Amino acid sequence: MGLVVQKYGGSSVADAEGIKRVAKRIVEAKKNGNQVVVVVSAMGDTTDELIELAEQVSPMPAGREFDMLLTAGERISMALLAMAIKNLGHEAQSFTGSQAGVITDSVHNKARIIDVTPGRIRTALDEGNIAIVAGFQGVSQDSKDITTLGRGGSDTTAVALAAALDAEVCEIYTDVDGVFTADPRVVKKARKIDWISFEDMLELAASGSKVLLHRCVEYARRYNIPIHVRSSFSGLQGTWVSNEPQGDQNVEQAIISGVAHDTSEAKVTVVGVPDKPGEAASIFRAIADAEINIDMVVQNVSAAATGLTDISFTLPKTEGRKAIDALEKAKSVIGFESLRYDDQIGKISLVGAGMKTNPGVTAAFFEALSDAQVNIELISTSEIRISVVTRADDVPEAVRAVHTAFGLDSDSDEAVVYGGTGR
Ligand code: ADP
Ligand code: ASP
Ligand code: MG
Repeated sequence: MGLVVQKYGGSSVADAEGIKRVAKRIVEAKKNGNQVVVVVSAMGDTTDELIELAEQVSPMPAGREFDMLLTAGERISMALLAMAIKNLGHEAQSFTGSQAGVITDSVHNKARIIDVTPGRIRTALDEGNIAIVAGFQGVSQDSKDITTLGRGGSDTTAVALAAALDAEVCEIYTDVDGVFTADPRVVKKARKIDWISFEDMLELAASGSKVLLHRCVEYARRYNIPIHVRSSFSGLQGTWVSNEPQGDQNVEQAIISGVAHDTSEAKVTVVGVPDKPGEAASIFRAIADAEINIDMVVQNVSAAATGLTDISFTLPKTEGRKAIDALEKAKSVIGFESLRYDDQIGKISLVGAGMKTNPGVTAAFFEALSDAQVNIELISTSEIRISVVTRADDVPEAVRAVHTAFGLDSDSDEAVVYGGTGR
């Protein structure tokens, strides 16, 4: 008998009908002779709604109580799903992250999983139950408080449980048929990828392809858990994410895997920084001490007349306020002139391991953007990725232009988006 972990995202359990539909699918997997562990997200846009509610009572909600609130979303769906399964005549038990043994560090709102001890899940399975686990949450080893894993964190819960339970596969059910060469909401001609390496998927996820969370792919690679991303609305094969393709998975490793975009970041420019050693260090120390992760960094050439330069960096919009406050506080030590904050930016990334060995990819990328009349503000590269920052308004057009330029457009069907609000 195999053990499978299935994860259903918010769009798959958006309403009572969705929960009943998913329950049927889960029961099918059980009837096929599997032990089934299900990780479930909050219904639809519940998490966003809870965040908005919290902001109405407190301007910058954070910490312990914020996590208590957000985990309620997943508790609602896990209980309803267990009820729906029982209604189909099968036994199911729901568990919070803490009950399922998801142990984390104590960083509220973006905790990391440090251990998984799924004793109660094993017992539930051994007794013939389907186990339903609330995604995106755990319990801190030190403080024993409830934590959340950061937005989209149910993906990580699923892979972590799959690793701890030695599952054959971790199935991620969502509102599209798999991982595409671009977000199907933006590129109708995006093509479904049959198989993608952990390496390329990691880079796509880190660049904003939210179909899989970056940390979940990291975890899957570390424990070598194959992920099957597929739709909960269709019976189609989805995308396999693993080290090596298996069976009849399309073995041809593409030069370019896809185009990712991200409009969740903002740009901070520190204006008028003295061009001397130690300045960048003190700016980024202030940011790091505020526990903020940054993405791209550029330093302009200093003006000869003044000896002053500008340093820009990007970071999640949700951390914008905190970053500005931290820099203002350190202003006298760093000695800059002023700060500029711009949240109308977007990032477009081209990803593919074949880039390493194929000259001309960078040139073709910039030509495509230029043909689409898109102005570039920042550039960063890795061995297998090129990213640029542009105006947010330019992103959809730029993504489509790059997708077409690299021959990624599908010549058959349009990509289907079955549900979700794209939020
Ligand atoms: P869930 O509710 O299942 O967690 P998400 O909204 O987190 O779903 O992720 C699915 C969405 O990811 C899709 O609806 C799609 O708009 C978006 N997406 C972004 N990039 C890609 C991509 N390359 N392939 C597929 N989907 C993508
Ligand atoms: N409900 C959480 C979120 O919206 C976690 C998840 O869906 O993965 O971010
Ligand atoms: Mg998700």
